[in-house]
Amino acid sequence: MSLRHPVITRFAPTPSGELHVGHVLAAWQARRLADLHGGRCMLRIEDIDTQRTRNPQWIAGIYEDLKWLGIHFDGDVMVQSRRMEVYAAALEKLRNLGLLYPCFCTRAEIRAEWDSVARAPHTGEHRRYSGRCRNLPTDRVAELLQRGVPHAWRINMRRVEDIIGCPQWEDLRLGVRRCVPSACEDAILARKDTPTSYHLAVVVDDAAQLVNVVTRGADLLEFTPLQRALQAVLGLPAPIYAHHLLLRGKEGRRLTKRDGSCSVRSLRQRGVTPRELLAALKRAVELGGIWGDQPL
Ligand code: GLU
Repeated sequence: MSLRHPVITRFAPTPSGELHVGHVLAAWQARRLADLHGGRCMLRIEDIDTQRTRNPQWIAGIYEDLKWLGIHFDGDVMVQSRRMEVYAAALEKLRNLGLLYPCFCTRAEIRAEWDSVARAPHTGEHRRYSGRCRNLPTDRVAELLQRGVPHAWRINMRRVEDIIGCPQWEDLRLGVRRCVPSACEDAILARKDTPTSYHLAVVVDDAAQLVNVVTRGADLLEFTPLQRALQAVLGLPAPIYAHHLLLRGKEGRRLTKRDGSCSVRSLRQRGVTPRELLAALKRAVELGGIWGDQPL
């Protein structure tokens, strides 16, 4: 597997709360990989969801915490909320390819559908949209749109497969994988009040920032095939991926933003130094991601 040079990585936090140790691990991995290869590491604020990221303090807090940590970034910071017209153009391209369809299902309807289907136990599989609105008759769609029934725009992944087939993608740790678009969910790419989604914005922006190695937590691995398919259909270059392990508490539970003691701010307030925090992260990585209850 050969990296393209210069290696360009990125850290792309969603400012939906305070920066926590999981973020620091992601930022550190991105910076470290870039430094190892004499490359660049970009910063991107993923704030398209104005509901989740409504507190401007959170963005300011991210900059402040990163500065405190001594993790620096190259070039200009990209802020997704300022790029809505770029995403709208990408969405239009997909629409012109006949790949989008309106989905009129409400969240409650989708949930009820899931509840009615027996799930395979213990798979923990991401619940998928069944594709209920994929084949609605054209006149019915026209009528619903005309009546102004609320809807989201989903991508028809079977049609995507007809166009691009099953492209490969690579992960530095996992090797070469193949993406089967028809096995991916028909994801929502836009809603009435947000003309983009995480999946669309992330592929458009990785390309715009010339990112060629995406380092990010393994929790996002399940979405990589879908994003690879979007890159292919939009004619964007495919970065290499480097999904890293996630930090876990002592009992193996995943650390989340709700673990307040894991926020950078709370560690700072307790007098922890950046050096101590980074050393604890390195130890956790050596232990396979075990952060424990109170490592600092
Ligand atoms: N914005 C996402 C997060 O904060 C990361 C997205 C990505 O790395 O692709 O979890």
